[in-house]
Amino acid sequence: MRNPHAGEPFDTPDGEIAEALLDVSIPTLLLSLVHMSGDPSIIRGRLRPAGLFLNEVQGYLSEEDKAEARALALEVIRDYRDRGCPEPEPVSAGLLHEMMTWLVCEDVPEEYVPLLMEEMELDGRDARRVDPVGDPAERAAFPVVVIGCGQSGLLAGIRLQEAGIPFTIVEKNAGVGGTWWENSYPGARVDVGNHFYCYSFEPSDHWTEYFARQPELQRYFQSVMDKYGIGPHVRWETEVLGAEWDEASATWSVRTRAADGTEDVLVARAVVSAVGQLNRPHVPAIEGADTFAGPAFHSARWDHGVDLAGRRVAMIGAGASGFQIAPTIAPEVGHLTVFQRTAQWMFPNPNYHAAVGPGVRWALRHLPFYGRWYRFLIFWPGCDKGLEAARVDPDYPDQQRAVSEMNDLTRQMFTDWIVGQIGDDPDLIAKVVPDYPATGKRTLQDNGAWLGALTRDDVDLVRTPIDHIEPDAVVTVDGGRHEADVLVYATGFRATEALYPMTVVGRDGVELRAMWGERPAAYLGITVPGFPNFFCMYGPGTNLAHGGSLIFHSECQMRYITRCLEALVTGGHRTMEPRPDRYEDWHERSQRELAGLVWSQPSIRHSFFKNSAGEIHGLSPWRLVDYWSWTKEPDLADFVIA
Ligand code: NAP
Repeated sequence: MRNPHAGEPFDTPDGEIAEALLDVSIPTLLLSLVHMSGDPSIIRGRLRPAGLFLNEVQGYLSEEDKAEARALALEVIRDYRDRGCPEPEPVSAGLLHEMMTWLVCEDVPEEYVPLLMEEMELDGRDARRVDPVGDPAERAAFPVVVIGCGQSGLLAGIRLQEAGIPFTIVEKNAGVGGTWWENSYPGARVDVGNHFYCYSFEPSDHWTEYFARQPELQRYFQSVMDKYGIGPHVRWETEVLGAEWDEASATWSVRTRAADGTEDVLVARAVVSAVGQLNRPHVPAIEGADTFAGPAFHSARWDHGVDLAGRRVAMIGAGASGFQIAPTIAPEVGHLTVFQRTAQWMFPNPNYHAAVGPGVRWALRHLPFYGRWYRFLIFWPGCDKGLEAARVDPDYPDQQRAVSEMNDLTRQMFTDWIVGQIGDDPDLIAKVVPDYPATGKRTLQDNGAWLGALTRDDVDLVRTPIDHIEPDAVVTVDGGRHEADVLVYATGFRATEALYPMTVVGRDGVELRAMWGERPAAYLGITVPGFPNFFCMYGPGTNLAHGGSLIFHSECQMRYITRCLEALVTGGHRTMEPRPDRYEDWHERSQRELAGLVWSQPSIRHSFFKNSAGEIHGLSPWRLVDYWSWTKEPDLADFVIA
């Protein structure tokens, strides 16, 4: 069978190929040429990228160099086409490493190469795929319940199906996608490049935008679900209320409630929680909120029945969601008032709203490994560099401004980007340039849309705290009365309350959220002592603020979980749970690391990363390469297995 990443054979005429090449990433193209021709001298000459930066996919090549590369490419591609598009010969490990280094203009350390090879799947093999575990009778006796059918729950289903383990996914919504089902607010789109923000084992030649909007993302998860036949395993519109461990039978009883109110209990040998961290809306208690006369709703519960045209809209909160909503609705509404407590740092990304042109889509579909190298190109700048940049230099002066020299440079770059867009409006500059270190909260992608909206005459940005709400207005503490017909809460989620509102009762009647309080923890973010055969995906300590993508993390976690299940099934064991010392040690080490990273800076007063004591338990302070290697295979010595 042809390697699926070798591209579909084509007979595209020369003119159309030349046209397509006008669109593509030239460094990525040159690597594809090496595969097509088998000639590494293509990347050993003068034509080479000059540097790497997030979202810069042309390697800063001059127009002349790009034209020269395209002319060369046309020759190589024409020859390849005329030879019938044969599957390229495998490339040696040495040459692959050279190609990686060439593309990103820096040495790619050896320790990353196996991870990257796995991510890129140049051999056409999904190394994270699992084989059926145990024999059919053993597997059949080990039903698993997965809670949630977002990106991680769907992945769990795919892997459990491969493993041959019977499973049921319980999903509170009526369809697949989790956050990409719920967040249908105007302007919702992903801000991790889509050619990386997708399953590693699925093609990525279909995206119509580099940072796709919510409907396309939801359709993607739907199509993957259909392809793998996961739908029939899902109980839709059914919420998991809780789960209770029974020691005698070594089973979990998972309590569910369907949309019609019917309650049920599913009995499982193991539970995989795939509920995410960001789906239970947080709506602040503001005095008088319930007196507001017009429609009022949260960003993740957008009321599409409300026509905003010509109406006065007040939007409370402007983090990642509000930042996308405001520019999208501003042209439509009569007037928009944005209430923002903390200004946001934003990162210039001219491609943020860009469509993927037909040339790029042709290349992704036909040019051998173009899509895989493109994935690597956008993955690498966000792979662990952000973590180093987040590290606090305790000797750096004025920590409120910046936590290290690098952080100060980042601040300067971000500030230039912001100020450069608004010119000489000191009042607005004072409102929109944050007063805490850059990247200290989740940094947003920006192409100018946000400030473009704020500088409109019919949009006001209010940084004065809200005092109360009246039937037709939001009133600030300075007495300002901001009239509104519609109220939008873009106020985020109950992110620090892991697994809220489920009640998970483990060994000896211990309830998980009560045990955690505001300090949730899990060994590797996955398992918890006293909660046998209970596995978390995107659990405590695994949210990524420094780079990567949650899909990458989910793939790591699910491989680990599947291997744990394999150990249970094939070993004939009843239970496994992490040793308390490993769990505590993990949490302590994570806390120590987090304390030295920018997100913990005390000057950041409001952040959904922090609990009420200012501590962070949801984020990962670890390099992707470490997390990947720690989760490759469970070390059974970490567990109490019975
Ligand atoms: P968020 O980032 O937590 O932002 C919530 C906003 O509401 C902030 O402006 C916050 O102010 C404000 N707020 C909260 N409580 C308030 C109160 N009591 N009084 C006044 N203001 C209050 O939530 P989000 O925008 O929904 O985003 C959450 C996360 O979802 C993101 O960080 C991201 O991980 C994900 N997300 C991703 C995308 C994407 O991929 N493009 C888009 C949307 C969301 P403070 O900043 O002062 O706390």
